Amino acid sequence: MIVAPERAADLLRRRAEPPPLDTSGPCPFCPGNEQLNPEEIASTPDGTGWAVRVTPDKRPLLHIEGDPERRGAGMFDVMNAIGAHELVADTRRHEYAWADFPIPHMVRLLAMYRARSADLRRDRRFRHVLVLKNHGAVWSRYRHAHSHVIATPFTPKRLEEELAGAREYYRMKERCAFCDLLTEELGAGVRLVARNADFVTFAPFASEYPYEMWVAPLRHAADFGALAESALVPLAELIVDALARVRAALDDPPYSVVLHGGPLDGGDQAEFHWHWEVVPHLGRELGMEWGTGIFSNPVPPEEAARQLRGGAARR
Ligand SMILES: [Zn+2]
Ligand SMILES: [Zn+2]
Ligand SMILES: [Zn+2]
Repeated sequence: MIVAPERAADLLRRRAEPPPLDTSGPCPFCPGNEQLNPEEIASTPDGTGWAVRVTPDKRPLLHIEGDPERRGAGMFDVMNAIGAHELVADTRRHEYAWADFPIPHMVRLLAMYRARSADLRRDRRFRHVLVLKNHGAVWSRYRHAHSHVIATPFTPKRLEEELAGAREYYRMKERCAFCDLLTEELGAGVRLVARNADFVTFAPFASEYPYEMWVAPLRHAADFGALAESALVPLAELIVDALARVRAALDDPPYSVVLHGGPLDGGDQAEFHWHWEVVPHLGRELGMEWGTGIFSNPVPPEEAARQLRGGAARR
């Protein structure tokens, strides 16, 4: 659970009026406006300018200063929200969907996530690095094509559940649960969406959300920061392909893409297997899940995979 008090004011304000967007003034993420957003963490040079640029989020969920301080508070372990929240301008273009990215540009963006993962790993306070991309989200604070790199001193809840399962599996079988899952999926074939020599896209057997897709390396790898140079192009191809399929099969819905990397402390390297998860937001009632933690997915992953495989043809 993340407590971000300055966001509470946002939420209250947003109840009364439409969400404030950056459409009034000049965009702080467009080329030429860098002085509006001067604190650069990293950028990919491109001719005389930049191709991908990383800056601190002005209203972060997490702050880099301070030490984590846990205190018990009933059911929840409340922790001061300490961490790093970086905002990535995905491209110089103000509006540009990942599904339309040329592969060389997606390669540059993935290389930036890899570099940020490797850099944040060196900060001993952090346990995880997540990459998060929201597409078409009504709650987004910025219109410019952007994503987030978030480093946390704790393990986010969904990842913790995945990790716990993977650790337990490894303890019993001495094998990576994800590697075994991939072997099964490749054998069954019905939930596969796309693959190349290095990566596979599939609708997981236990999908929590309709049309959820994972993109994972075929060979075991826990640290996204150690991704080989030769893997960038094949990974970029499958990520762009997955999002083109979501758009074609589901009529361009909003979606989230998240990178689940392994823990940064060097543990769990054999147990965890990094993967990207793609989850379309189809506007269904989430109260049940929120209230009970029980997920009910109305679209079987086999049917989702069938539709998504067909989706590429209409790209
Ligand atoms: Zn812009
Ligand atoms: Zn594995
Ligand atoms: Zn995951």
